[in-house]
Amino acid sequence: MDQTTLRTTPLENFPPPAQWDDWTEFDARAWPRRVQRNYALVPTICFNCEAACGLIAYVDKKDGKIQKVEGNPYHPGSRGRNCAKGPATINQVQDPDRILYPMKRKGPRGSGEFERTTWDEVLDTLAARIRKAIVEGRLTEVMYHVGRPGHDGYVDRILQSWGVDGHNSHTNVCSAAARLGYVLWSGHDRPSPDYENATFTLLISAHLETGHYFNPHAQRIIDGKMKGGKLAVCDIRLSNTASMADYWLAPRPGTEALMLLGFAHVLLRDGLVDWKFVEDWVDWRAYQRARGRSVDFASFREDLARDYAEATPARVAEACGLEASTIENVAREIGKAGAKFASHVWRNSAAGNEGGWAVARNLQFVSVLVGAVGSIGGTNPAGANKFVPAPFQKPSPQQVWSELLYPREWPLAHHELSFLLPHLLKSGRGRVDTYFTRVYNPVWTNPDGVVWIEALSDESLFGCHVVLSPTWNETSRWADYVLPMGHATERHDLMSQETHAATWIGFRQPVHRVLAERQGKHVEWTWQVNPGEVWEEDEFWIALSWRVDPDGSLGIRKHFESPYRPGERITITEYYRWIFENSVPGLPEAAAKENQTPLDYMQRHGCFLVQDNIYKTHETELKGEFAVDAEEGIATKDGKPVGVVVDGVARHGFPTQSKRLEIHSQTMADWGWPEFTAPCYIESHVDEKNLDRKNGEMVLVGTFRLPTLIHTRSANSKWLSELSNTNPVWIHPTDATRLGVETGDLIRVATRTGHYVNAAWVTEGVRPGVVACSHHLGRWKIHGDQRNQNRWQLHDVDFRQVEPGRYLVRRVKDVSSFESADKDSGKVWWHSGGVHQNFTFPVQPDPVSGMHCWHQKVTVTKAEPGDRYGDVFVDTNKSMEVFEEWLQKARPADSHGPGGLRRPLHFKRVCRPVDAAYRLPDAT
Ligand code: SF4
Repeated sequence: MDQTTLRTTPLENFPPPAQWDDWTEFDARAWPRRVQRNYALVPTICFNCEAACGLIAYVDKKDGKIQKVEGNPYHPGSRGRNCAKGPATINQVQDPDRILYPMKRKGPRGSGEFERTTWDEVLDTLAARIRKAIVEGRLTEVMYHVGRPGHDGYVDRILQSWGVDGHNSHTNVCSAAARLGYVLWSGHDRPSPDYENATFTLLISAHLETGHYFNPHAQRIIDGKMKGGKLAVCDIRLSNTASMADYWLAPRPGTEALMLLGFAHVLLRDGLVDWKFVEDWVDWRAYQRARGRSVDFASFREDLARDYAEATPARVAEACGLEASTIENVAREIGKAGAKFASHVWRNSAAGNEGGWAVARNLQFVSVLVGAVGSIGGTNPAGANKFVPAPFQKPSPQQVWSELLYPREWPLAHHELSFLLPHLLKSGRGRVDTYFTRVYNPVWTNPDGVVWIEALSDESLFGCHVVLSPTWNETSRWADYVLPMGHATERHDLMSQETHAATWIGFRQPVHRVLAERQGKHVEWTWQVNPGEVWEEDEFWIALSWRVDPDGSLGIRKHFESPYRPGERITITEYYRWIFENSVPGLPEAAAKENQTPLDYMQRHGCFLVQDNIYKTHETELKGEFAVDAEEGIATKDGKPVGVVVDGVARHGFPTQSKRLEIHSQTMADWGWPEFTAPCYIESHVDEKNLDRKNGEMVLVGTFRLPTLIHTRSANSKWLSELSNTNPVWIHPTDATRLGVETGDLIRVATRTGHYVNAAWVTEGVRPGVVACSHHLGRWKIHGDQRNQNRWQLHDVDFRQVEPGRYLVRRVKDVSSFESADKDSGKVWWHSGGVHQNFTFPVQPDPVSGMHCWHQKVTVTKAEPGDRYGDVFVDTNKSMEVFEEWLQKARPADSHGPGGLRRPLHFKRVCRPVDAAYRLPDAT
């Protein structure tokens, strides 16, 4: 294209897909010079949070380098819009400190000494270990622990082909509590709100800013507001989201579930309930029967109102520290919205408090009362809006059960008790032979990180630790192998998320491989075209599995043979080709319209809308043979409910035991929690009456994100590090005055097991009596470690054991400018990088959901003489004491369950073993 053509071409919002192979535009960075660049555009999917927004990589055709990464306007979830972390992918690709080659430990574990090795050596060593464990029947000693998940089911398939029970996740430091609250109602463990069409939205977290499906949700919340919808945000901080809301609700931490019962009370009292919906879809019969009451709907209506009669706005307001009029007003707004009431809770208070799962349980109670389930403008169950296509072959479930993943003390946990792994190992409950951490940094992210260090240092507990990561992290120091895995533009994944009332899939793909293959080049392994020797992770697992069972004698190899070339090893292209050809309804037809194969279509578009406008899936008519129990209003097969009969038609209902929404949970009754069968309020461990205010105790809320950072994984981005590089402690002026501190003064925040020293930020944006600190900052490396690591954000620390079990971590070198191939590294002006607080948090597993209860009771004081900014002190002797205390709160399956089972058979597991494995070994 010449200059004249460029000047006369109408402006485009985005390059039209027909020109993605050959797109020319001016280089913005060259301005005011008019420098043209000619690009090939390749779609992929962001890897920086779970939302899976669409990205487009702009590859300069002259040098083959990715020059920028922008949004994909054709992606159904993100629609071309991204948060700051999407375009920052280019920083991660170009990060001068990234890992480019497989590394092997040289000195003692934890010494930080590594040397380059070969992929062949890595694969042979790991395959031999895993094969030995399998052959010797040590099927619970191989463990894969995921931080940032990839596409659903891929690694489950690998682990099940090996026959091991080894899937571990980060869920219990993230969303386990909310999942339990939701699953008790509908069998679905998360919500999918239709924000765009809601007339009233209640967020119990900061979704517009930093929530679970952050950007796809944020844009739809704004769309809803633009159409006249109202927004309420419940958050202890005046977050960016709360600042845009019609109502900011900041109840005392831990009382959110009670606030929701207050809303329910008003709905019941003021006749704002959709009783037709409740009668049809709620298992009110079980509720009445369990309480020995009359099983008729009129009685239920009266009984329910009576059961929540105590939750008056006045009483609730007093306990929550809110105005009674606020409870009244928000409840009436919800009632007015009716079926167009959208709601969501994910981390926030559910993740902060003992009993936090009741927040999700009660939020859904409110939605159910107004009939806002599956409705336009309401909240779908997540399963309606997530599409997981089946792979070409699925191995049988494993036969074994690992109590390191699902200890019997938490039979209702969602999911694995991941953050307790070192505590369980140190308590003599087992051993892990080969341990993979995948884009996961437990030493830094989890509570009790120093206990992780102690356990990872012990080779009798972890035989071999393999870090799979694009970048060095705190945990990798205690690894035996550190293996570089790709960023968003260097790997495959198939993603689907419940961003709105639709289903879609997004295809994350390695950009350079796609381009090489378009040019007719043969690529055997993606690492051959990725930077350095960065492996494509899906291929790593195929290659490893092939070496675990080279001759097929273990029955593993057959799962990795090509469906197109019998007996030969599958390629990653064939794996996805099969899925796109066989498992995605409508995709082959859509591809044919463009004269493409389904694989071509996905490589070209990067996404596919499977179905749009999905509502009321519970009303889908039931087909096939079944009996009807007219009195109970259910369809049955072999004596079990399979559907719900509404207005004379049998319908699917919900995936619960009763097929209805369960206001009474028999599961809770059967598993030792009879007091929690209905929506209820559980006093938190940080409840006002558990605080010693006279001695200065406060609540620390440490669960919130900064919107520009992502847990432990954004320190490799210069742009994100420049945007956010401190995490001062939010403190209300009344508390600041009491303590005699001003903004910038150093304060000491002390937990049960340690303390940290950080700067105060005095603000009315947080409730009095509460302090808040984002957990996204305070990354460090041990001083003297010669490896360059995330220098945009990491400071150097002296990590010292001052007495047995007592550690002091002290900053010895701030973030500063540095020399690298990126000239911006010489311009780093920020110094702090923030303070690491999670080290000082003991583990606090919720007795029911197993969720780590993040909120901490703390004592805040002025910094003491000798304290320095960034100091962290930890006593791991106390850590184990706190673990034992919380362990005592649990109600184990063998003493409190219905007999013989570790977990209800109808409760899912991420990688579910055979039903027989659910039985306790000592059960008769
Ligand atoms: S919300 Fe931001 S970080 Fe998350 S996938 Fe989208 S662009 Fe990436």
